[in-house]
Amino acid sequence: PYDVLIVGGGPAGAAAAVYAARKGIRTGVAAERFGGQVNDTLAIENYISVLETDGPKFAAALEAHTRAYDVDIMNLQRADKLIPASEPGGLVGVQLANGATLQSKTVILSTGARWRNVNVPGEAEYKNKGVAYCPHCDGPLFKGKRVSVIGGGNSGVEAAIDLAGIVAHVTLIEFADQLKADAVLVNKLKSLPNVVVHTNAQTTEITGADGKVNGLRYKDRATGEEHLVALEGVFVQIGLVPNTEWLKGTVELSKFGEVIVDAHGRTNLPGVFAAGDCTTVPFKQIVIAAGDGSKAALSAFDHLIRMPVV
Ligand code: FAD
Repeated sequence: PYDVLIVGGGPAGAAAAVYAARKGIRTGVAAERFGGQVNDTLAIENYISVLETDGPKFAAALEAHTRAYDVDIMNLQRADKLIPASEPGGLVGVQLANGATLQSKTVILSTGARWRNVNVPGEAEYKNKGVAYCPHCDGPLFKGKRVSVIGGGNSGVEAAIDLAGIVAHVTLIEFADQLKADAVLVNKLKSLPNVVVHTNAQTTEITGADGKVNGLRYKDRATGEEHLVALEGVFVQIGLVPNTEWLKGTVELSKFGEVIVDAHGRTNLPGVFAAGDCTTVPFKQIVIAAGDGSKAALSAFDHLIRMPVV
């Protein structure tokens, strides 16, 4: 069995693996796609000490750093089920889609999350070419330009307020007949001079030319009228979905499906820790996931040294 088995090989999982391996304990990582979300990222400009890099380069560096240690990397392996220890101090099982079950004294869950897509023509085509999902990451790329935010919940309204301070103009599009964000955020949004809000508005297309976004088409759901907004960027803010479907019924999840962790990265199950975007950690960012992964590995090590000697 492993001392530490990490499920997920994004920034959180890679950091956990390096920290665990440096303790000289038996460490494994099972990941569906090593690197995680950063594989789908173009420019990364907010990983501290790295002025600028890109996603594939960053993912390769994560893997190289992990491979520099004695870590079993099981890439292209999807975990289907977590099997909690049957007795205190017992082994935790992780069942893979290929049928095998891995056993470990401790497990770190770091399966990340994915942005919900609006699924309209142009979204996939112009991803990273004007279509963005993370205002903290990509907001500055649109400095002085016009953007739209799709989604009027807390994350959409927060994004619109954030972006309004950087870009020239923000058009917020909400499908429902009113914004669902907290009143304090809605009031703040309405006080901003360079924001326009359209409710009851259904996005129908993200348009572009020459490989770049140039507009957003929406339908007024009350009148059926179609409108075209000229702009350079679209931020889709209709939800971040944690990759935790496989954990339902075992580890405790929040109402959003995030693994509930304490300040040490512990879950409700003894010996099971979690880190990064799949957890309740606030703000989903690479630098936060990496810090979180190292924290979970140190917590797992702390758990191991306290296990009774048998
Ligand atoms: P992830 O990166 O999501 O990694 C999850 C890992 O778990 C992957 O290896 C995945 O294959 C694996 N996995 C999932 N389910 C299973 C399963 N059942 N079994 C086994 N393995 C599984 N953040 C920034 O800080 N700066 C940026 O510029 C930035 N830009 C971004 C741009 C885009 C387009 C996107 C999508 C995200 C961006 N982010 C950025 C966010 C950042 O990528 C995430 O916060 C970060 O990758 C989270 O790391 P993680 O390790 O928690 O999860």
